[in-house]
Amino acid sequence: MMGLALDPGLVLDALSVIAWTALPDGRVDFVNRKWSEYTGLGLSASSGLQWQDAVSPDDLPDLLERRCAIHACGEPGGIAARLRRFDGQHRWFDIQISPIRDAEGQIVRWCGTCNDIDDLRRAQEALDRQALDLQLIVECIPVPVTVTSPTGEVEGQNQLTLDYFGRSREELKAWRSHEIVHPDDLDTAIAAQEASLASGKTYNVESRHRRADGVYRWVNVRGFPLRDRAGAILRWFLLCIDIEDRKRAEMTLAESERHLNETINALPALIWSARPDGTGEFYNQYYLDYLGRTLSQVKDHEWTKAVHSDDLPGLMAAWTAIMASRMPGAAEARMQRYDGQYRWFLFRTSPLRDQDGNVVKWYGINIDIDDRKRAEEELRRSEAFLAEGQALARMGNFSWDADTDEIAWSEQIYHIFEFEPGTPVTLARIAERAHPEDMGFVAQFIEQGRRGESDIECQHRLLMPDQRIKHLHLIAHRVTERPGRKEYGGTTLDISQRRSSEEALDRARAELSHVARVMSLGALTASIAHEVNQPLAGIVTNASTCLRMLAAVPPNIEGAQETARRTIRDGNRAADVITRLRALFTRRSVTIEPVDLGHTARDIIALMQGDLDRARVVMRMEFADGLPFAGCDRVQVQQVIMNLLRNAADAMRTVDDRPRRVTVKTEAESGETVRLTVRDSGMGFDPQDAERLFDAFYTTRHDGMGIGLAISRSIIESQSGRLWAEIPTDGPGAIFSFSLPIYGA
Ligand code: ADP
Repeated sequence: MMGLALDPGLVLDALSVIAWTALPDGRVDFVNRKWSEYTGLGLSASSGLQWQDAVSPDDLPDLLERRCAIHACGEPGGIAARLRRFDGQHRWFDIQISPIRDAEGQIVRWCGTCNDIDDLRRAQEALDRQALDLQLIVECIPVPVTVTSPTGEVEGQNQLTLDYFGRSREELKAWRSHEIVHPDDLDTAIAAQEASLASGKTYNVESRHRRADGVYRWVNVRGFPLRDRAGAILRWFLLCIDIEDRKRAEMTLAESERHLNETINALPALIWSARPDGTGEFYNQYYLDYLGRTLSQVKDHEWTKAVHSDDLPGLMAAWTAIMASRMPGAAEARMQRYDGQYRWFLFRTSPLRDQDGNVVKWYGINIDIDDRKRAEEELRRSEAFLAEGQALARMGNFSWDADTDEIAWSEQIYHIFEFEPGTPVTLARIAERAHPEDMGFVAQFIEQGRRGESDIECQHRLLMPDQRIKHLHLIAHRVTERPGRKEYGGTTLDISQRRSSEEALDRARAELSHVARVMSLGALTASIAHEVNQPLAGIVTNASTCLRMLAAVPPNIEGAQETARRTIRDGNRAADVITRLRALFTRRSVTIEPVDLGHTARDIIALMQGDLDRARVVMRMEFADGLPFAGCDRVQVQQVIMNLLRNAADAMRTVDDRPRRVTVKTEAESGETVRLTVRDSGMGFDPQDAERLFDAFYTTRHDGMGIGLAISRSIIESQSGRLWAEIPTDGPGAIFSFSLPIYGA
């Protein structure tokens, strides 16, 4: 009981913490020494409501409320509040209140202690602030950030991380097993992280991560350690930077670079680059393959070894000049191929300049022009050959645009026309040289060209200033390369020599045929005379004998009868001779067969082409399509056509003021006959003579026989046909036609 005698106040004073007691209603009735020391307030001053002055006004309402609650439930309780120290500074205290009860359990006092927790509290606050700052910083970083413990466990992340991955915090914590990283990249990511955790060094990994939309994207993960002052790692910060677009761009770039490289290497040309001083730097694969050398064997100046020694000085001079000019340039030289063969190349180069215009690089391409070179050489040779050939053949080429009258001549035509080579050629100049009598042919040739006829041909003469005459043969063919254009390519042949020899030949032939005709006529006359003379002499003799016998006395009747019989016999013999003579002109055995008149006429024209050309006849054929066959003897009809053509050419012999044109035409006349017409532009005939022409021995030509048309008519009529002559109503000339029955009609 000694203890009870001890003053509780002394006990409380001895405590190193603030302590007090209060009555059950809360009125403070004791404060210990520590209180007084701390607050600088005594009990008297602190009694009643005065102690509240020591409590921070910010904390007082909470404190009073809390005290009420503790009093109401009668259980011990606590609260933190700031108390003002004697010097005015506030410090945090942990205030604990406990009831003191008597033996009946009635609360007789409240006892309280105040523990100074200010330092602790401030430290905690600082820590909280720090954590808050960290979170704020992390949230502010505009890329997904993850914070891990020093050993790598995920502790937190910013909102961006959650949004980017679309995963819960738990899933992100277990990132290794949630396919957040692409399976192919997972091992690398783990290894890199573990290496960094072990070494404490930052790490930098590129791996594919699955975004919220399920798409894997390339992400650059960079881990930085956060260290305390002593250097110990407190946290790891992991920044995830989406580099998909960059990666894609890189890949595209790499792809296009690869593509470019492949292209450059595969281009079938030798491609190179050189430094500003002209030394070689880059060569594409094709280049190296062509030379069969490695890069080091062509670099710098080594490439010159592949250049033909004859061409090297020229090439180097050109290259030096190009470099000095700093402008694009080109040169040609032969380069040796891997197999030792030299081929011609065109070296082309262009400088790459910087902003100041200085050459930073030369780019070049060598193009294989060997085939072209050879072709050029070949062309030169064949051109020379052609020129020589043309000179020999006295032939030249020309081109003529009938729309614009542009004319190009080969050298040889200049020689033929005796114009200064290279001077411009015009139609007017050509017309100047043409023989005035042949102007019609030239005009017609031009006219046909203007109409666009596919093939034109004519022969005409040139009258040279010194009155010499040249004969030309012109052939032109319309070029079909450019439809719609009337362009012609053609040849001009100087046929003067041929013409004069032909004319000599013609003269000789004409003389010969005349001789032959006269001779055969003579022979014919002799045989007629012989054949007819004999029976005539017999008739005369027999008639006189008969007369004598009848005049005798008595008359010898029997003898007279006999001689009269002989007279009749000889008369019959003479008639026979005449009949046989007629048979000579009309071939007896006629074979009727199906004959295509067009074909037949074409054959004859081909056969007579030389004669017709010499007579400068321009042929035109107008054969009807699908013409029925004529029923006649082909050989005989050929003779008729030949005769008509020959007459036509003869009739135009003196015509020089117009084209000597002959048109051969076939047509169906009615359902039963077909007709062939030969029309010429010759001198024609008097319409009154239209029938006389067919009389035997009618001729107006000094060397004519006058039997051609007579025989022709007898041939046609013997085959149930008709042959007649007309005068055209529209122009000069004559028209000879025959019609024959359709075969089988
Ligand atoms: P030749 O030709 O020997 O004179 P032809 O019987 O063939 O004998 O011709 C008789 C005559 O008919 C010719 O001399 C000529 O007067 C005239 N003649 C024939 N063909 C034509 C023609 N195409 N144009 C003008 N007259 C012609």
